[in-house]
Amino acid sequence: MNRFPTNKFAAIETPFYYYDVELLKKTLDSAIGEASKHEGFHIHYAIKANFNPKLLQIINAAGMGADCVSGGEVKAALAAGIPAEKIVFAGVGKTEKEIRLSLEAGIFCFNVESLPEAELINELAAEYGKNAQIAIRVNPGVGAHTHANITTGLAENKFGINYELLGETIDTIGEFKNITLVGLHFHIGSQILEMEDFAVLCNRINEIQEMLENEKGIVLPHLNVGGGLGIDYNEPEKNPIPDFATYFATYASSLKRREGQQVHFELGRSIVGQCGTLVSRVTYVKHGTCKKFVIIDAGMNDLVRPALYQAYHEIENLSSDGAAEKYDIVGPICESSDVFAKDRSLPQTKRGDIIAIHSAGAYGEAMSFGYNCRELAKAYLSTEI
Ligand SMILES: *Cc1c(COP(=O)(O)O)cnc(C)c1O
Repeated sequence: MNRFPTNKFAAIETPFYYYDVELLKKTLDSAIGEASKHEGFHIHYAIKANFNPKLLQIINAAGMGADCVSGGEVKAALAAGIPAEKIVFAGVGKTEKEIRLSLEAGIFCFNVESLPEAELINELAAEYGKNAQIAIRVNPGVGAHTHANITTGLAENKFGINYELLGETIDTIGEFKNITLVGLHFHIGSQILEMEDFAVLCNRINEIQEMLENEKGIVLPHLNVGGGLGIDYNEPEKNPIPDFATYFATYASSLKRREGQQVHFELGRSIVGQCGTLVSRVTYVKHGTCKKFVIIDAGMNDLVRPALYQAYHEIENLSSDGAAEKYDIVGPICESSDVFAKDRSLPQTKRGDIIAIHSAGAYGEAMSFGYNCRELAKAYLSTEI
């Protein structure tokens, strides 16, 4: 009935994260296989989606580079064995310390999000007697059909340099001797399922490239189009692996590449999202006046997506096959937003049942926190239990 080793789960303290290594490897194979059908396509795994060191090792072994958004992530990537020359580093607020450690490691590229940041990287690179490669993160003014909290490519979002300011920014950066502009970087948001959104981004990139070429005679060797490919939260069993073929084909057909131009992708959720499950136990079933509550031992501190983005996750009772009933499935945290699902149908549920929250591999463990003095949930690979 399900792909979980439920009998083994019974012996493990809940809540915990469970990662299906076989599915992760199949997903990596699919992503890398589909990308390699197109000359010059490179994938950098977006570490922020899940920085579990054991997963990072598997991802490194598959040959992906890393996309980092903090110094800690650069360190995590290096510790997992990901070569510095495959690491890119984005983020609006890179600190001096973070820039230094990245310069020392010799990462491939800083995705620069403002002029003062470019200035600081230039200054620090000079101190090291180095020349740092940078890409300018361009805010393309392109929306995406996703939750408002996870769009990043609109002028009102804090990310990148507005495309209208690109020309003058490049002029200023041209005077910095210790950085070299090698590319343009974009990232319009996350959990994007409409390929049309990516095609719209490509059209904007084409316009920007043309503008740079015509006005400044500039052609850059790298384009980094970011990540954002979504996963099927509604039917994870039916669609465990995202449609990488169509995703990469969309870029291959819509992006007007210049000769030899390399294209970089920063995929996070689509790589790790479906392989992770948050496993929890029912602490109590409470009958209210208008609701039945299933109170589980996982809370919003373990998986914050439902509270933060009103995100939907499939929830399965692995211990019951009774008749379906409607429940609100909630955590123990003292916050009304600590709710995983409302009016969700589950087989008749009782104290002690094991509950699986699907599609929790991305922005799950990585976003967990210790509110209410709760211990962070442990994580297990399918190969370890
Ligand atoms: C978060 C992020 C990504 C990854 O996004 P996904 O939706 O998980 O693929 C890629 N690039 C940048 C700059 C990011 O901040």
